[in-house]
Amino acid sequence: MSAVTESVASTYLDQENLHAAHNYHPLEVVVESGHGAWVTDVTGRKYLDCLAAYSAVNFGHGHPALIAAAKAQLDRITLTSRAFHNDQLGPFVTALAKLANKDMVLPMNTGAEAVESGIKIARAWGYRVKGVPQNRATIIVADGNFHGRTTTIISFSNDEQARADFGPFTPGFVSVPYGDAAALEAAIDETTVAVLIEPIQGEAGIVVPPADYLPAVREITTRHNVLFIADEIQSGLGRTGATFQCDNVGVVPDLYLLGKALGGGIVPVSAVVGNKDILGVLRPGEHGSTFGGNPLAAAVGSAVVALLATGEMQERARVLGEYLQRGLTSLIGRGVVGIRGAGLWVGVDIDPALATGREVCERLMQRGVLVKDTHGSTIRFAPPIVASESDLEFAVEQLSAVLDDLRA
Ligand SMILES: *Cc1c(COP(=O)(O)O)cnc(C)c1O
Repeated sequence: MSAVTESVASTYLDQENLHAAHNYHPLEVVVESGHGAWVTDVTGRKYLDCLAAYSAVNFGHGHPALIAAAKAQLDRITLTSRAFHNDQLGPFVTALAKLANKDMVLPMNTGAEAVESGIKIARAWGYRVKGVPQNRATIIVADGNFHGRTTTIISFSNDEQARADFGPFTPGFVSVPYGDAAALEAAIDETTVAVLIEPIQGEAGIVVPPADYLPAVREITTRHNVLFIADEIQSGLGRTGATFQCDNVGVVPDLYLLGKALGGGIVPVSAVVGNKDILGVLRPGEHGSTFGGNPLAAAVGSAVVALLATGEMQERARVLGEYLQRGLTSLIGRGVVGIRGAGLWVGVDIDPALATGREVCERLMQRGVLVKDTHGSTIRFAPPIVASESDLEFAVEQLSAVLDDLRA
């Protein structure tokens, strides 16, 4: 990199450091454009994007069908509020309900809003349908969860960094070990309205529970008349080689929480998807969002659902995922101590004696691969599903080279 291009990049870094709140610790790359699985920085360097904005860019940067849907809608109308109907929302919720094999959709914007909405729906269902005494409803969650950053959601996080100095916290949650169905059942009592879990814990390091866990959760929640809410905000919409990770283990939850990829990487779109007997508890005026279900979001959301409706994206993620997992597995014993994942979503544990996850990410960036560490020495690979086999081969080669350098 020349001194001139380097100073261009450092201007952007300085501006962010001075005037953007320091709630992130980004890698020092300033992205300017992107196409498919690749992004370009302000100095003209290209990088393979193996994070895909935490799976919000599942279908790649600038997917032609998604960009076309957004551009067409920009010229029509972008926001009406839900005070009026718009001609994009009906088709969107119809298509999304069909994709999920449910009959009702609550449109929101961010993932955290979908989670908050799911919590409110579960509580209202508990009081109005199940008959739980007012203000006593509890929701069971799992240790190590990540469901977002609002005050209620961090109230049931175990991540001290996410909680410290942000109390007081919202009551009404009980946390049990993830992957332990017996512990979950033992926590159920007459106040329990729902179980809220991630089918795979993403931020915790792509933690895949035992194969019989989600089926057991389904059986237990049905038997106790408790809602099963699956947070598929990161695991859903193609990432794991299926429409939902729940599909991979043959489980149908009562409510799906969706976000991230639902907005095609263009606008924030999230949703709670379920059947009328549950979502129907909401009455006019009880819940809402100025931007939820706006015509631009709905047009993009419809285009995303159309991409998933054929099953090609899911199949591609499954096949490419096997390829990537095979490649990364070959690095075990050469600086990698473990890998796990589902589809095109892989957590790689780096030998902590060799380097931190952050250090590996910085070295990979130097070699043209963008990834992100999660907890300690785990790094996650979640490239866009439109990546090619040779892209994935490139990523594995670069990780191999980084590990060789570290061991040298
Ligand atoms: C990202 C994420 C959220 C929060 O979504 P935001 O859009 O960042 O609010 C919730 N749950 C899971 C599993 C996530 O990965």
